[in-house]
Amino acid sequence: MGKNIAIDGPAGAGKSTIARMLAGQLNYIYVDTGAMYRAMALYMIEQKVDVTDMQAVTGACEDIVIDIQYRNGAQQVILNGRNVNDYIRTEEVSQMSSRISALSVVRDKLLHLQRSLADASDVIMDGRDIGTHVLPNADVKIYLTASSHVRALRRYKELTEKGTVCTLESIEQEIIERDQRDMSRSIAPLKQAEDAVLVDTSDMNIDEVVSYLNQLIRQSI
Ligand code: C5P
Repeated sequence: MGKNIAIDGPAGAGKSTIARMLAGQLNYIYVDTGAMYRAMALYMIEQKVDVTDMQAVTGACEDIVIDIQYRNGAQQVILNGRNVNDYIRTEEVSQMSSRISALSVVRDKLLHLQRSLADASDVIMDGRDIGTHVLPNADVKIYLTASSHVRALRRYKELTEKGTVCTLESIEQEIIERDQRDMSRSIAPLKQAEDAVLVDTSDMNIDEVVSYLNQLIRQSI
């Protein structure tokens, strides 16, 4: 059983950047569970699966094999033998991943993979239900958040730097919609675990958050 650190929080709170940096500093493996849901969403989009039809979704889940590999320390998601890392960050995939992640057949499929990764190594795992559901006995639990406006601003900056044309208003709206769906679903909704440390990063930069969490983790483990 490895050491387990759970980081949960809403979209755009900086979980993946921060978890990746912490994993590098502490020599843990970073597991991005959102990328797994995104890979399943990509499959549903590409195969035109009607995600309102439970039989179709169940059939699709049976056909999907998700595997995780690491290249120079960076997680690669392999969907049925194909590395899909470059295709899972679109807004269409974000929204689809949020829709299908409310379905138990989808969540059950990924739970086993997530737990077996945490069993095998020291991991920092980020997502929505890691502290509450996937790793309830994690050694450290962190709930990372920021105001929706700050999160939208960060995402907007990231996207425009990559050359994507978008508006701040639409990004904020999409973030609010996705959070609402993730928080209100009946299975494994996004919420702070009772024993998680709440960190609001609205007024902190990435280096400040990483250094604060690095200390917190070292004191707790
Ligand atoms: O973290 P990321 O934004 O990549 O996650 C994409 C979507 O996957 C989330 O909006 C959420 O619906 C879903 N997800 C989840 N549980 C997790 C990780 C992600 O439901 N542990």
